[in-house]
Amino acid sequence: MQDCIFCRIIRGELPATRIHEDNDAIVFMDIGPVVKGHLLVIPKEHYANLEETPAAVLAKLIALVQKIAAAQKKALRTDGVNIMQSNGRAAGQVVDHIHFHVIPRFLSDGHHWNWKAQKYADSGEMQALADKIKGILSGASSQQSG
Ligand code: 5GP
Ligand code: ZN
Repeated sequence: MQDCIFCRIIRGELPATRIHEDNDAIVFMDIGPVVKGHLLVIPKEHYANLEETPAAVLAKLIALVQKIAAAQKKALRTDGVNIMQSNGRAAGQVVDHIHFHVIPRFLSDGHHWNWKAQKYADSGEMQALADKIKGILSGASSQQSG
């Protein structure tokens, strides 16, 4: 992808502070850290989002995320970690090259997610949404087996 900023980082056309590279992926410092030490794990192959990324690529990426989070924990003596992965503008995705955020957390970091738990009007509302998703899932699995 010619204009994708993460592809340009992979090709070395844009600078980035890299901490890891292998055949399939690179890991580098996020330029705008939510908490200092924030890393991005990306595949070298361009896929826009979760939906477009093959499961085999995702499997390698999440294994790398685990390894990177462990290194981050040891190196920065973190108290926790948030793994984030956004898809679509509604979800806050800005760069359309799939990436996992590995965000170090410290008890003293002062960061709070703006996470506001809502309430369903009643159990019927929740069940109706569950049934819709289950219906698609069972349709997909019967298509695969049929
Ligand atoms: P998104 O909102 O798409 O999940 O996250 C994109 C992330 O990429 C943001 O956290 C942003 O700070 C980071 N980012 C955007 N442009 C650059 C860049 O040129 N270099 C680096 N290192 N990070 C970037
Ligand atoms: Zn790209």
